[in-house]
Amino acid sequence: MRVCVSACLLGEPVRYDGGAKPTGEVMELASKTEAFRVCPERAAGLPCPRPPAERVGGRVLLATGEDVTGAFARGAESCAASVARFGATLAVLKAKSPSCGVGLVYDGTYSGRLVPGRGVFADRLAREGICMVTEDTVRACKPSVEHPVAIVLGSGLGHLGTLVRPVRRIDYQDIDGFPATARPVPGHRFEATVGTIDGVPVVVYPGRIHLYQGYSAAEVTSLVRHAHHLGCRDIVFACATGAVPGQAHVGLGILTDQINLTGRNPLAEWDGLRDVDSPFVDMNDAYSPYLRTIARGVADDLGIAVEEGVYAGVLGPCFETPAEVAALRALGVSYVGMSTVLEVIMARALGMSVLGLTLAANESGAPSVSHDSVLATAGEYAEDFERLVRGVLRLL
Ligand code: SF4
Repeated sequence: MRVCVSACLLGEPVRYDGGAKPTGEVMELASKTEAFRVCPERAAGLPCPRPPAERVGGRVLLATGEDVTGAFARGAESCAASVARFGATLAVLKAKSPSCGVGLVYDGTYSGRLVPGRGVFADRLAREGICMVTEDTVRACKPSVEHPVAIVLGSGLGHLGTLVRPVRRIDYQDIDGFPATARPVPGHRFEATVGTIDGVPVVVYPGRIHLYQGYSAAEVTSLVRHAHHLGCRDIVFACATGAVPGQAHVGLGILTDQINLTGRNPLAEWDGLRDVDSPFVDMNDAYSPYLRTIARGVADDLGIAVEEGVYAGVLGPCFETPAEVAALRALGVSYVGMSTVLEVIMARALGMSVLGLTLAANESGAPSVSHDSVLATAGEYAEDFERLVRGVLRLL
């Protein structure tokens, strides 16, 4: 995987004040990928050290009033061209900088106040379609014993749980809000495992309950609230789906967005609401662009065939009619299933970073789809699915 990184985050003393901002999590990511370091301000030939610069309207001015707009633009253009040649799919850029800032930049008053916006280089890089994040995102997604990665597994994908080196197990019946009457299908256990996979702290939930079984939206999202209580900040949802013909194929997929067609929402129920600050949750980028880009990079590096697309969650339990399949296709849906959408809403309400992976085990609307055929197809893709998840965990 090829990643572009602000040079100052890797310890190069290139900042305006002659210093650097070495960031351990970013340096670790760079060491595990093919990293390309950039410093647009140095590329522009700006001296270091020098007075600080900030964006003021459409210009960039030093604190002395000197206009350096042209130099910033030249540096951005030169670095963006290099990054495009390098073929990076992810850029980790220094937060708040007038060149590299993503999301927030200083407001032009040299007072430390921030406003929404991007630096000149980040603005230019956006045209390359590269996922851009700051060091804050990399740090926030870094797993640790205090912040393990939660992994919720769906039909046929539970084998991943056997890879966990366990530290302790938690019976689902001991999870607040999980229905006391819920039982797994024969041969399975409703038991979360806290431990590590390849040394990365995880909590694996090897099965879930569904709305179509008669449970409430709050009940089906109880595992998400539990993961959050345990300290998890990243959560991976893996689900079996049907691939909408013309939009996706049977096989592995990365979820990019979702449409909640269940008619339910955990944030409309008290049990779902009691842990969140506000029910009015921003669902833009509900599936973390950073985690999606990492997953795509891992898949490409390992030669795993993976598609990407929008997931539609339906109530179920019956499969889709031909008219419903046509409607889903018209809506731009690639995958349809009976889980995940409510869990993603809950996770976002709790501020967690979501990665959605799916195994499209059949074509949506195909005749003779049985639970057994879903399990059989899941078995065919189990190895690739495990390699993908392990690869993502290794890079986080
Ligand atoms: S231009 Fe970017 S890489 Fe260079 S010092 Fe500023 S924030 Fe760091």
